Amino acid sequence: MSIFDKFSLKGKVAVITGGNRGIGRAIANGFADAGATVVIAARNEAKSAEAVAEINATGGHAIAMKINVSDRAQIEEMVQTVETEIGPIDVLVNNAGIGFHADALKLEDSEWKRLFDINLEGVWKMCQIVGRGMTERKSGSIINIGSMSGLIVNRPQWHSPYGISKAAVHHLTRSLAAEWSQYGVRVNAIAPGYIKTEIASTEYEDYRHYWKDEVPMKRYGSTDEIAPAALYLASDASSFMTGEVMVIDGGYTLY
Ligand code: NDP
Repeated sequence: MSIFDKFSLKGKVAVITGGNRGIGRAIANGFADAGATVVIAARNEAKSAEAVAEINATGGHAIAMKINVSDRAQIEEMVQTVETEIGPIDVLVNNAGIGFHADALKLEDSEWKRLFDINLEGVWKMCQIVGRGMTERKSGSIINIGSMSGLIVNRPQWHSPYGISKAAVHHLTRSLAAEWSQYGVRVNAIAPGYIKTEIASTEYEDYRHYWKDEVPMKRYGSTDEIAPAALYLASDASSFMTGEVMVIDGGYTLY
């Protein structure tokens, strides 16, 4: 058995929320390359269809399911469809997330709620609903996409709700890892730094100094620098690892 076999997802079913663009799409492509049947779970159907077509055109297996991760009924229906029509979910990546800059003195309750409904409650509900099957089968790997913003306070932009939601995702990860290890389910998180995608536009001239020049590696990361770590956490390569928050930030949080 080669060490590379430990990274294989052959025969596995992986659900990736927000898998139709950005970091989630790179993870979906990577998991398909590793042999998984990939379920892209997001709201924009046209975008999801495009992501599915890309995977299937290169010999992979993917389908799209339209869901809003903050809607419990939609998640339950999606999980039931996937488990009956494709098979039990082996890997769950909670990647869907939103972010916006916010002045703490002016933020409306509705904006706070909009963010937490997706970034925290969405992750919670997905873990709970998919976790029921995983814990029953005594097998599964969950990967939550947190952020370095859950570990440090970013500057110069303020976005306290985003950072607070990601800190909570990290602790949710550790809590479920402790609770579910007895059932053979591992739960880990990835905390990316600035990765070039729609959520972290690189067009903010005023921020470039802080977001790039101050990073020890002096650049943004790319989505395909996150996907291999997700594959490690999803696969048997990380079979003794749970409750970990893996920071991938070009050294940003070092100082
Ligand atoms: P993008 O904005 O490029 O993609 C976000 C994805 O989430 C889309 O696929 C979107 O699909 C999906 N999504 C958003 N809301 C919902 C919802 N309610 N239900 C289902 N899907 C939803 O983001 P990134 O790829 O940049 O970020 C992905 C994750 O990584 C996020 O959790 C983000 O916080 C985190 N992160 C990103 C960093 C970065 O620098 N880019 C840094 C650190 C963390 P659709 O709109 O079709 O639903």
